[in-house]
Amino acid sequence: MRDLRVSITDRCNFRCLYCLPETEEAANFYRGKFDPLKNPHPQPALTPIVREWKPKSALLTYEEIERVVRVAVGLGIEKVRLTGGEPLLRRGVPELVARLAAIAGIRDLAMTTNGFQFGPQAAALRTAGLKRVSFSCDSLDATNFKRITGRDGLSAVLAAIPQAKALGFAPVKVNAVVIRGLNDHELEALAEFARAQDISFRFIEFMPLDSGHAWLRDLVIPSREILARLQARFDLRPVVSENKSETAKRWTFADGRGEIGIIAPVTEAFCGHCNRLRLTADGKIRTCLFSLHEHDLKPLLRGTASDADLAARLREIVLGKEDRHHIGEAGFQQPERTMSCIGG
Ligand code: SAM
Ligand code: SF4
Repeated sequence: MRDLRVSITDRCNFRCLYCLPETEEAANFYRGKFDPLKNPHPQPALTPIVREWKPKSALLTYEEIERVVRVAVGLGIEKVRLTGGEPLLRRGVPELVARLAAIAGIRDLAMTTNGFQFGPQAAALRTAGLKRVSFSCDSLDATNFKRITGRDGLSAVLAAIPQAKALGFAPVKVNAVVIRGLNDHELEALAEFARAQDISFRFIEFMPLDSGHAWLRDLVIPSREILARLQARFDLRPVVSENKSETAKRWTFADGRGEIGIIAPVTEAFCGHCNRLRLTADGKIRTCLFSLHEHDLKPLLRGTASDADLAARLREIVLGKEDRHHIGEAGFQQPERTMSCIGG
């Protein structure tokens, strides 16, 4: 295990259809009841999904997160990524970044964010020691962006990308979840954006981690289809990577500007090379995105356990890591918690 993803909040200011949909209709968008593009005011028919967020006392404090990360780094973790929910909703994130950046042995400190509140905090995050940032942007069309995320956020994300580059975050990556009928018509435009902006763009297959439990296999655009579409438009050169744990297969454009990657957990699972662990905002370790069991560290962190006890517990948990996920197999059970709680 080399990669630890730390979710620092379960809350989010977006309501992405594939993660935390705002209404029952948005969760079931593919049934055709939800289409603000055709009818921008369907409000009376919408049924809000009421959410309960974890109380602050249930979330790990920055001191507790720092302790878990320090112990995990002592066991071999090298890369740490802050995520959520929306990590930038938590107060004082640069302070946490500075604490983590000071841990000897961390080679890479990154964040995944929807970018909406990145602007005002960007410089402080960089100064505190954040090295890389990945933004999420599923559409370049403001209306479709709002349809997918529930918010008018495209211009903020588009402003955050050059800002991150100018501040020296490198590489700047952008992720898009590709969903049939929702944003697959934008594949080529998103790839062209990666080339024009000279950034890394990652296309991610839709996974059954949505709070609406509405995932359907038919909504997943398989990676080979994404690739065929992009190859038909662009002259792409495969990037050969030595790193077997890399989740994305990557290609550069012939003119050397920008890069695309495809992450295919559904149709080309990479479980055998997985080197990731996840720490949820409420202190649970998950050994797989699709784990049905979590391991609560809070009793150790808030009790009398020493760092050695914590390390022993982490070792024990990792030894029980699942061999692989079972998406698409009979009896597959979607985990109770959604991507926004697990930390993508
Ligand atoms: N809020 C931040 C953001 O959106 O970048 C960080 C957390 S979000 C859960 C992390 C990543 O998970 C995002 O890139 C998002 O697109 C992805 N994600 C969320 N739900 C997903 C799903 N059902 N399938 C595939 N990717 C998903
Ligand atoms: Fe929020 Fe990120 Fe989930 Fe969208 S994908 S709802 S931005 S946590």
